[in-house]
Amino acid sequence: MSIKKGLWVSLGLFILFLVAGMVFLLQPSGQVSNFQKWQYQTSEKTASTSILKMKFFGVSTLLFDDGKTQILIDGFFSRPSLSQVLFQKIQSQPEVIQRMIQQQQLQRTQAILVTHSHYDHALDLAELGKQLPQTKIIGSNSTLNIARGGAVPEQQLMLVQPLQPLSFGEFKVTAIASQHTPPTAVNNNLGEEVSRPLQQPARFSAFKEGHSFDYLIEHSGQRVLIKASTGAVPNQLKNLKVDTLFLGIAQLSRQSTEFQQNYLDQTLKTLKPKVVVPIHWDNFFKPVDQALEFLPYLADNTDESLKILIQAAEQQKVQVVLLSRPVSYPLDPAVQSQP
Ligand SMILES: [Zn+2]
Repeated sequence: MSIKKGLWVSLGLFILFLVAGMVFLLQPSGQVSNFQKWQYQTSEKTASTSILKMKFFGVSTLLFDDGKTQILIDGFFSRPSLSQVLFQKIQSQPEVIQRMIQQQQLQRTQAILVTHSHYDHALDLAELGKQLPQTKIIGSNSTLNIARGGAVPEQQLMLVQPLQPLSFGEFKVTAIASQHTPPTAVNNNLGEEVSRPLQQPARFSAFKEGHSFDYLIEHSGQRVLIKASTGAVPNQLKNLKVDTLFLGIAQLSRQSTEFQQNYLDQTLKTLKPKVVVPIHWDNFFKPVDQALEFLPYLADNTDESLKILIQAAEQQKVQVVLLSRPVSYPLDPAVQSQP
């Protein structure tokens, strides 16, 4: 073979290798169906006897409902595709928000509690605020600037005040300062702010983190903590016990063993929940009306992250419940179904 031909063959092989690598990285990192043992099985009986229910829509979008009042965490429903996020400016989809409001009767939502200002949490705030004029939006100044970018009136906006409980109907909610997942190459703006009203469409990178918060929800004797990101402020939760923990596991498998151990100690071991529900594990580049699937290898190894959580939970005799569709999940330990 001549040198020239050899070079062409090498280049061809290199491109083939690159394409194969990209195809692999875009594959889901495991299958939800392999975790059937932990998946919640809907039961009419248990769902109807519980006062407080919750639906999970992927990432850390959770809707709490007691039949009268709703509390929404984040409210990210538009879920633009990976190519839109990488190559275009992104924006909230008014028709998706309208459909969710109708389907889920979101007019009863008194407050949207926002965990931080990255687009996979905060993209839809402005549109939700406009279509739900009775709803308060609670978050950091960066979060409020995302709502301001869509001209949401100031009286709907509340700057988050950590450790100051707020009441909405029968719900008591308390924000707790938290820590974001460790930075990555495309997500390295931790602590940076959205310092001015952010108009959409905007690049995903314009949605700066602007500090992170966990939320404690108390209702009818139940305590629930929502921790969206895989990060913990040391000893922040040490005096708290909860019944149900919604625990972010994004990129847990990509961290060191020490980090994983510390994160699970600071959360699961400290809070001693009866049930842990993993969140922020789904491929958020897929539309909201599809069953959730694992993140692609590009972003995480979800199969591995889930196994790390399950192992720690089983050691501590905590029940793991995996939710992959927005079904009503009862938050009452007496009726929380055995998976
Ligand atoms: Zn984030």
